[in-house]
Amino acid sequence: MPRPIVASISLSALQHNLAVARAHAPAAKVWGVVKANGYGHGLERVMRGFAAADGLALVEPDYAVRLRELGWTKPILLLEGFFDADDLPVLARHDIQFAVHCEEQITLLEAYAGGADWHVHLKMNSGMNRLGFQPDVFRAAYARLQKIAGVRSITMMTHFANADDAGNPALPLKEQVRRFQAATEGLAGARSLCNSAADLMHGELAHDWIRPGVMLYGGSPGGGTAADFGLRAAMTLESRIIGVQDVQPGEAVGYGSRFVADKPMRLGVVACGYADGYPRHAPTGTPILVDGVKTTTVGRVSMDMLEVDLTAIPGAGVGSHVELWGQGLPIDEVAFSAGTIGYELMCALAPRVAVREV
Ligand code: PLP
Repeated sequence: MPRPIVASISLSALQHNLAVARAHAPAAKVWGVVKANGYGHGLERVMRGFAAADGLALVEPDYAVRLRELGWTKPILLLEGFFDADDLPVLARHDIQFAVHCEEQITLLEAYAGGADWHVHLKMNSGMNRLGFQPDVFRAAYARLQKIAGVRSITMMTHFANADDAGNPALPLKEQVRRFQAATEGLAGARSLCNSAADLMHGELAHDWIRPGVMLYGGSPGGGTAADFGLRAAMTLESRIIGVQDVQPGEAVGYGSRFVADKPMRLGVVACGYADGYPRHAPTGTPILVDGVKTTTVGRVSMDMLEVDLTAIPGAGVGSHVELWGQGLPIDEVAFSAGTIGYELMCALAPRVAVREV
């Protein structure tokens, strides 16, 4: 007898969004990015949803091995590479490709004594200052990799900080592209640059491989809404009204009594709280659907419950259907209200929430 909260995951939405990613970069191959348990959608499930992808990319070596055990035979890429020398024989055995972003990783590869066919993704820090070699040492890193016996291919990759905001004066997209092109000119190997935002808005940068993540799940990477980009929500989080309260002007609602009614109100109590993955910081006024009608949350989100305004939905009561986000209510709208991004909400779906495939 589960609580009445369920996340429905649509495989056809995953497939549709993958097709959208391809349509923006028809000549490129697609890494479906499935880190963080497929952005919270379930690794095995998204593996099936992305059966048409050319490869799957993630950051967790143990999950990469799991993909092989689950039967994924196409390429797998570790976007952060490996972390210890002990990882290397495992990656060799399972034919897992990896990013190389620092000298320490190259040193471990040079020292590796076993047989292997490495497909290495040499990562450049073209301005984001997260992982990668600075442009001025990139060629030296490339040359070191070339000398390693097991290295069969070197793909050159970089990651954009502002593909959704290309004119950002602190680091314009064009400047990252310029640095990448200058430092890789003439080097043999494939190129891999685009995340979702770059694929959707700058498909001309696609080159050989693209690496879309959030768009595949129907979330917007910024620069427009998911609907603007023709994406479909893969995850719909639904629950029910489990209680109703009529409150009078001057009465307070929830922990901290942060909301005080200024008129008579009818409130519904929803079986969903921050322990289900709903953002605790979502303020009063965050959008939510009750019986398909858009209304708002009221008061603080509790661990297992939150409250909503039913005043203008007279037919709603205990048992009414609630959509927290998904096909009827973009996750990005909820995220925006809570001061975060759809990515975080997807990934935060709690293990206690039942998942149903639709
Ligand atoms: N490529 C790399 C290296 C990443 O780190 C990520 C995610 O952060 C992606 C691709 C996918 O990004 P997005 O979900 O914005 O498409």
